[in-house]
Order: sequence, then structure tokens, then C-alpha cells
Amino acid sequence: MKRILMIATGGTIASKSSESGLKPLITSDELLSYVPDARRFCQADTLQLLNIDSTNMQPRHWLMIAAAVKEHYDAYDGFVICHGTDTMAYTAAALSYLVQNSPKPIVITGAQKPIDLEITDAKTNLSDSLCFASHDKAHGVTIVFDGKVIAGTRGKKERTKSYNAFSSINFPYIATIQDQHVIFYLDDKALLTTPVQFYDTLNSQVALLKLIPSMEAGVLSYLASHYDAVIIESFGVGGLPSYESGDFHEAIRQWIRDGKTVVMTTQVTNEGSNMSIYEVGKTIKQELGLLEAYDMTLEATVTKLMWILGQTKEPRQIRDMFYQTVNRDILYTATW
Ligand code: ASP
Repeated sequence: MKRILMIATGGTIASKSSESGLKPLITSDELLSYVPDARRFCQADTLQLLNIDSTNMQPRHWLMIAAAVKEHYDAYDGFVICHGTDTMAYTAAALSYLVQNSPKPIVITGAQKPIDLEITDAKTNLSDSLCFASHDKAHGVTIVFDGKVIAGTRGKKERTKSYNAFSSINFPYIATIQDQHVIFYLDDKALLTTPVQFYDTLNSQVALLKLIPSMEAGVLSYLASHYDAVIIESFGVGGLPSYESGDFHEAIRQWIRDGKTVVMTTQVTNEGSNMSIYEVGKTIKQELGLLEAYDMTLEATVTKLMWILGQTKEPRQIRDMFYQTVNRDILYTATW
């Protein structure tokens, strides 16, 4: 029988209604009591690490979760983390960088409806997660939601209300789960060669600038005084405006001169960026050697930068680490 540690952090799955709205009040033990069937495939213990709405989740909480997994790593065969759905994709991506090459599964789940409601997705999601975490072929950081298993760096919340809230972006589902039966589409545990590696530092000085037509470049100069890296969410496959009022080129040149990191990505969810296609992207990318997220999700790009900048400040190393694939985060390898 597999031993699983279920770590509760809050979210809708653990929420009850109150006068001020839904808030996490259900404990980790109570959560587990709603899925008695899970005893058939695992022996689960619980840990109440947090009980917060994931809107309040911060990098220090990601470090807490990673530290809890590390502390209990030898004692358990797998981990299930119950989490709010709103920032679940960020936490899953962050954990993908903080706990790498894990032969043991670290599953993140949650629900669109509280577990104590009669009609809810919470029981299925929790039971599926315990089932997947107990499977011999499962490994690494994943999201389990609505019967799908998504690589931790590929999840995105795309629906605010429906049960099928999460999609796997630019990458296939790893597995599906139906009636406690797991069907693997990607069965690659045997390819794991390096041992599990834990990290315990992040640099959260990463900003995101989403472009809109008419945006002024001055905002980049403002951000420069507060952040070590900026991700610019551009349009389509990627480019930067060069209209008069928005001298983005000069603002970015200054960022690079100051030894800061600039990553270009796209506002379009699917298929990723490629700055080398249009004149508005190619020249500036070549001239300044900007980093580009390609097929990575925004959540993975943000947390990967926080992880990298927590390890090094050296631009060459930042570039090498950024383009190194971690937990399936980047596959598109155009010439950079
Ligand atoms: N606001 C909630 C949270 O992210 C939403 C959810 O869990 O579905 O904690």
C-alpha cells in the first residue's frame, strides 16, 4: 500500500460560506474524510500547512510547500497538495523548479466547488489525485483536475467556473483518470536519471508588462527601479512597438545595460512566440539578445525566472538555465 502525504493549503476545495463570502475553513483531516474510498489504494496522512485563498499565495508559500515535501520526502511514496485554483498553475510551476527530477509524484489539486457541497468536483479531484499519486508510473510535479493529469509547468486556469477549468498548454496531457483507472499517454519514469533536487531560494523581483496599443515605454523605466527582470507580454508571435511616444527599444537597452533580464512572451495562450518572424521583433531581439519564452506558459516563465534569479545574477548563466528544459516546460527550440 502506497503512503501518501496530503498537504492542505486552502482554496475553494476547503472553503465554507461565511458572511464575507467563501473562505477556507475545512481542515486537512476533514478533507480526507470525504474520500473514504481512497483507503483502497493508499494510506494517507495529512498536513495542514496553510488555510488560505490562493489569491494570497506568495513565493514564500511556495518555498514552504517545497520545504514540507523535502522534510517528508523519505517517509512517503507521493504527495497531494490541495490548493486554490486561482493561482494553482503558478504554484505547480514554482514547485516544478523547486523540486526537480522527483521519482515520487507531487500532485496539486483543488476544486471549483467546496468539498462539503452535495454537488461538487472536489471529491473526484481529491480521489483522482490520491489515486494518481499512488500509481507506480507517476512522477514529478503535476496538476490533477477534472480527470486530467497536466505537467506542472503546462497548466493554465482557462475557465473561472466550469469543472474543466485547467488546460495543458502547448503540451499533451500526461494521463487521464476515469473511475480510479489511470491511462498514461506519457509513460517516461524509466528515463529519469538524475536524483531529486530541492531548491530553497527564489527571487521574486520579476515584473510582468502586458502591452496594449498606446502603452508608453516610460512604464518600463519605472519598473526598472523596482525589479530585476521584466516579462513583456507582446502581441502575436512577438514584437515591440516602435511608435514615437513609446520608445521601447531605448528603455529595454537601458534594462540590459543595467544587467537586468528582459523576457519576451506572447499574450496568445496557444502555440507560443517567435520573435524572429517579423521586423518588429527580429531586429531588437538580435541586437539586444533578449530572452524569449517560446512555448512556455506565463506561469512557468514567471516562476522559472524567480528560480533562476534566486540562483545566479550572471547573464550567460541566466540564459543557459532559461533555455534548459525543466519538467517539460520548454520544447520549442528555434535558433536563439
Ligand atoms: N479563490 C479560490 C482560490 O484560488 C478559488 C478556487 O480555489 O477555486 O483559493
